[in-house]
Amino acid sequence: MNIHEYQGKEILRNYGVAVPKGKVAFSPDEAVKVAKELGSTITVVKAQIHAGGRGKAGGVKVAKNLDEVRAYAKELLGKVLVTKQTGPQGKEVKRLYIEEGCEIKKEYYLSFILDRSTSRITVMGSPEGGMDIEEVAEKSPEKIFREVIDPLTGLMPFQARRLALNMEIPTNLVNQAAKLMIGLYTAFVEKDASILEINPLVLTEDDRIMALDAKFNFDANALYRHPDIVELRDFDEEDPKEIQASKYDLNYVSLDGNIGCLVNGAGLAMATMDTISYYGGSPANFLDVGGGANTEKVTEAFKIILSDPNVKGIFVNIFGGIMKCDVIAEGVVAAAKEVGLNVPLVVRLEGTNAKRGKQILNESGLNIIGTTSMAEGAQKIIELVK
Ligand code: ADP
Ligand code: MG
Repeated sequence: MNIHEYQGKEILRNYGVAVPKGKVAFSPDEAVKVAKELGSTITVVKAQIHAGGRGKAGGVKVAKNLDEVRAYAKELLGKVLVTKQTGPQGKEVKRLYIEEGCEIKKEYYLSFILDRSTSRITVMGSPEGGMDIEEVAEKSPEKIFREVIDPLTGLMPFQARRLALNMEIPTNLVNQAAKLMIGLYTAFVEKDASILEINPLVLTEDDRIMALDAKFNFDANALYRHPDIVELRDFDEEDPKEIQASKYDLNYVSLDGNIGCLVNGAGLAMATMDTISYYGGSPANFLDVGGGANTEKVTEAFKIILSDPNVKGIFVNIFGGIMKCDVIAEGVVAAAKEVGLNVPLVVRLEGTNAKRGKQILNESGLNIIGTTSMAEGAQKIIELVK
């Protein structure tokens, strides 16, 4: 789960991490009010979307007075920001962060991630801040430094100082930077984060080390013990289809292809996507209806697929074990009757109650193309969406 920069900075403040003063605003009036309260000579107006790369896309504006704050707030609110991370469709700006401007002497990169190869939290730092870390990794990987953290001791002060020195933070500020890093690490662990990226971490003209950006990502499996984090969820930033799916406890991920897939079991769902890709098609989603789905759940799943305008055809691939094929068939028929089926539908039913399932589909009057194997089904649906 992602949160906004302003929410991330609020968390960091509670852990004693230095961040500029600032507050969220939902309208130009509010933006001006916050800027007045801040009373800084320079105010930064920052678009709040769940994506980075805002600076380069014009989503971070430096205002010299209150009139400029108002003008920038007006310009940004409602604007669809297209950044390197949003995809071509962009994201609409609905919130702003109004922040004290700071005079930057140097920008660094700092992030904490859960490294699955070492099963440990790793902190990465670089003197190359404020830019794409992927680019740094490609062009000058020697400029990225890492410290692997032992969960028993946590981030040790010597590790934090070594990293700070590698990052070329001035010697007299290394202790200040180390303290900030330990604050970030504590926040990361206590909040069950999976990513915490500070890009840039800055050195200011008055010799302070500060987090100027904050990107948090939280482990969804640990959210049950963080109601305060769940509160921060912004539904405007999420795919409505995925929100709907989560209400019905469906494992659904929206993708950018045109073949909708309804499958039971995560393994079969992935194999189905692979098979479609293998034959030259492109799946519109990952969907695992699970083992114990009832008709209502299947109906909802099918409706979600049908609601996606990119879907030009649907492939239902069920291997009935615990899941019964007739339940799937009933769900498909109910959903198709409710919202109308205007795209080709290829169905493969095997296993428990397959016969009964096929009978329900045949008697439904829907235009369904049956198939007996996954490979054949994938080829058929690809042919039909062409
Ligand atoms: P993004 O990563 O989405 O582009 P950032 O928060 O990193 O957004 O901001 C982009 C750039 O804008 C920063 O690298 C920094 O140079 C500048 N910036 C951001 N916040 C401030 C601030 N409070 N004061 C001065 N400059 C800022
Ligand atoms: Mg940034």
